[in-house]
Amino acid sequence: LSARFEDAVKGLKGQDKISDTNVEVALKDVRRALLEADVSLPVVKDFVADVREKAVGAEVVRGVSPDQKFIQVVHEQLVEVMGGDNAPLAKAAEAPTVVLMAGLQGAGKTTATAKLGLHLKDQGRRALMVGADVYRPAAIEQLKTLGGQIGVEVFSLGTEAKPEEIAAAGLAKAKEEGFDTLLVDTAGRLQIDTEMMEEMVRIRTAVQPDEVLLVVDSMIGQEAAELTRAFHDQVGITGAVLTKLDGDSRGGAALSIRKVSGQPIKFIGTGEKVEALQPFHPERMASRILGMGDVLTLVEKAQKEVELADVEKMQKKLQEATFDFSDFVQQMRLIKRMGSLGGLMKMIPGMNKLDDGILKQGEQQLKRIEAMIGSMTPKERENPDLLAGQPSRRRRIAAGSGHQPADVDKVLADFQKMRGFMQQMSRGGMPGMGGMPGM
Ligand code: GDP
Ligand code: MG
Repeated sequence: LSARFEDAVKGLKGQDKISDTNVEVALKDVRRALLEADVSLPVVKDFVADVREKAVGAEVVRGVSPDQKFIQVVHEQLVEVMGGDNAPLAKAAEAPTVVLMAGLQGAGKTTATAKLGLHLKDQGRRALMVGADVYRPAAIEQLKTLGGQIGVEVFSLGTEAKPEEIAAAGLAKAKEEGFDTLLVDTAGRLQIDTEMMEEMVRIRTAVQPDEVLLVVDSMIGQEAAELTRAFHDQVGITGAVLTKLDGDSRGGAALSIRKVSGQPIKFIGTGEKVEALQPFHPERMASRILGMGDVLTLVEKAQKEVELADVEKMQKKLQEATFDFSDFVQQMRLIKRMGSLGGLMKMIPGMNKLDDGILKQGEQQLKRIEAMIGSMTPKERENPDLLAGQPSRRRRIAAGSGHQPADVDKVLADFQKMRGFMQQMSRGGMPGMGGMPGM
């Protein structure tokens, strides 16, 4: 999806606003990209229509190009469709909270049950896990093994009892022994069938769950929509767990699940180990689906932090070539307010593979430069040219800031390049950082 999405916004580069005409090409590519990320067709159609409405005529803030703005609109819409914030696990007013796990065979229900057991344990809560998959003796054993690993008790009646009886007995035990949560693992089938649905309904009736979590393998892609519809219509779900996101699925299923059921994804599974469970964050998933460096965080920060007045003042100075060391310090503060240099640069697509060591060096270098500027007189700060051809001044600055005169010379030379960098920056482009002193 990543490559496609970058294609999608190419047409918007260099335009000065998002219009009816230039947005259509981008939207077509978004549509194709989402289909490739396994979002189901009806969901994609609605999504594209919503983005079109929001993107056309969207106000483009100075310093943000239309293509960046478009990405932001798409991202915001993804986040909105996926529910905005993380939705936590339900908690019943009166213990125990009953959680019923549903889903196809192999989706990761048993694993997710144990993961949740551990998650609750980590929060100081006490869960009882119930093995109600009576069709495969190995399934109950699997849960018991996992329970042993994480130190969470498992209850079952073996394979002779009915699933709903096991669940009901588990609930009675939980109430009696003061467990605060009951996690009921159930049997799936290889595909949606009435037997499974009827069984789920019987278990639901027996334990009256506070939460019915549909466990969905993210690799099933497009089918997530149908699966969700079937479970939601016939059993009624209150949330979902999206598993196997450690694989290379883009996570498009997340969009379908939410759109079809209106229920939030609450957790994601990111590995076979019991620790590999994370709360679901729509924000992060949207970035994953878009598959880009986090451009939009950059855009948002730019919007929040760069005061228009500052930018305009700076631009004027640049045009008049009066950009001096004081401006430089101010510019550095701006960069600092926007987050560390490393964090900032990693948000730029294609730059996320940047070596941390190099970034650290860059930040240290900025600190050293700031120290040197601190050792300058106000006059020198205002007029960088004063320092040219004046070794005594440069020696004084070096001594004052704890550096060698050669270091100061180097910084002065780089400062000239820096002006070039700032000029590019003020034109709205993101130049290579090569022009930064010391980079
Ligand atoms: P169930 O039939 O729905 O109970 O599925 P299981 O919990 O038995 O899981 C089926 C297979 O998927 C097992 O081999 C699990 O180890 C694996 N699995 C479950 N969740 C994840 C996950 O998040 N990532 C990966 N890589 N494997 C998972
Ligand atoms: Mg199982």
